[in-house]
Amino acid sequence: MFRDITTLLLDPAGFARSIERIVEGVDGPVDLVAGIEARGFIFAAPVAVALGAGVLLLRKDGKLPGATIAEDYALEYGTDRIAIHADAFAPGARVLLIDDLIATGGTARAAVRLLRKAAAQVTQAAFVIDLPELGGADSLRVEGIEVNALVA
Ligand code: IMP
Repeated sequence: MFRDITTLLLDPAGFARSIERIVEGVDGPVDLVAGIEARGFIFAAPVAVALGAGVLLLRKDGKLPGATIAEDYALEYGTDRIAIHADAFAPGARVLLIDDLIATGGTARAAVRLLRKAAAQVTQAAFVIDLPELGGADSLRVEGIEVNALVA
């Protein structure tokens, strides 16, 4: 069953409240909010503005104009690859990871590997929806990530 967040986006009060709740769950200073393409971008941008942080785009490979570093991850059939600009941030930048939904956690774990390969400090992630029975949030916690999900 596909969980659809488009109805939340259409509800001004609901969308605003979801951004507030993500911001309330943030633990400590954040330099950059990293959103996963594409629905993660929608939540990452207003959260970044509220935190006084920048927005880092974690994009499907081949979409960014500059030099990139990338990370592969397994899908049910085949693999996918996400990328960031190689010079997006200085080593040690404190990055909050955001996506609309975490299921198996394969996408978010690849994002964490990529960010850490680029020497970011990634200690927290936020999702609108967690599907806990698929174990993704727990697999991030094993990696030392604090996970905040609005709906589980
Ligand atoms: P995972 O890698 O298995 O955790 O899947 C999470 C990624 O797939 C996220 O980028 C989600 O946007 C997307 N995704 C997987 N299932 C759904 C769903 O039911 N609704 C919306 N997005 C989903």
